[in-house]
Amino acid sequence: MRSTVLEDLIHFLEKEREMYGAFSVSGYDAKESPINPTSSSNTQASSPITPTSSPINPKEKKNETKTTQDVDMMNTDQTELNERLNACKSLAELEALCETAAELRTDLEGTRLVFGTGHPEADLMLIGEAPGAQEDKEGVPFVGRGGQLQNTILEAAGLPRSHVYIANILKHRPPDNRDPKPEERERSLPYLLRQIELVNPKIVLCIGLVSATTLLGRKSALKDLRGSFFAFHGRELAVTYHPAALLRNRNFKRPTWEDMKRIRTRYDELGGRPAALKGLPS
Ligand code: URA
Repeated sequence: MRSTVLEDLIHFLEKEREMYGAFSVSGYDAKESPINPTSSSNTQASSPITPTSSPINPKEKKNETKTTQDVDMMNTDQTELNERLNACKSLAELEALCETAAELRTDLEGTRLVFGTGHPEADLMLIGEAPGAQEDKEGVPFVGRGGQLQNTILEAAGLPRSHVYIANILKHRPPDNRDPKPEERERSLPYLLRQIELVNPKIVLCIGLVSATTLLGRKSALKDLRGSFFAFHGRELAVTYHPAALLRNRNFKRPTWEDMKRIRTRYDELGGRPAALKGLPS
């Protein structure tokens, strides 16, 4: 019982830090930010995404001493994985690969793969954190209470869910809805990067801090990441609040709406296709 209260408290503090960034943030120098909020010329030449260059902050990795043999073996594994990922020429093929990938699982047994859903050629791709209980039950991301709110936000921005693609950093539910561990994020990342490559969106929208720090490979507070468009493998990456934060604190609704308006404007500037061109109901 005591440990449950403690775990809740730790979880609460982590979420507060996510929102306010009030604690000291190590390993991040704002000057290194590759941000140019509105310039598309800032985007890097990208394709194909090379999953070996994990953008996860190396400071989050455990301090392990690796022998040359270990490193050789890891490189071979990585090359093989890259080959298997690059052999996936469609989302369906990638999903089939994910179904068999033990490294995508968390330490919660019996979970279901939550691969991702939406328009397969969406110009906007949302990346959340990890599936929760309802997502695990249905095999679909963002279907719980937070997901309903996310749908409303997307609708209000004129980018309904059927026009976008949604996935998570993790494809399996972690126990007790805890934050994904760095090693889980790292194992999952090559698969997600291939998924992004196959959808080929113009904008990747990180929903919440776990998603943003994993994809950007830096530690930072959410407030410092919002409002910018980062270069990301030849596309642009933006960051906004997680709907769970909005459910906890309604003060985040207005800034989220400001984010969505900015993202919608950028989507249009980059030539994001309107629904009619995608053969979708408007
Ligand atoms: N929260 C997330 O980040 N993703 C989901 O799919 C559900 C809740």
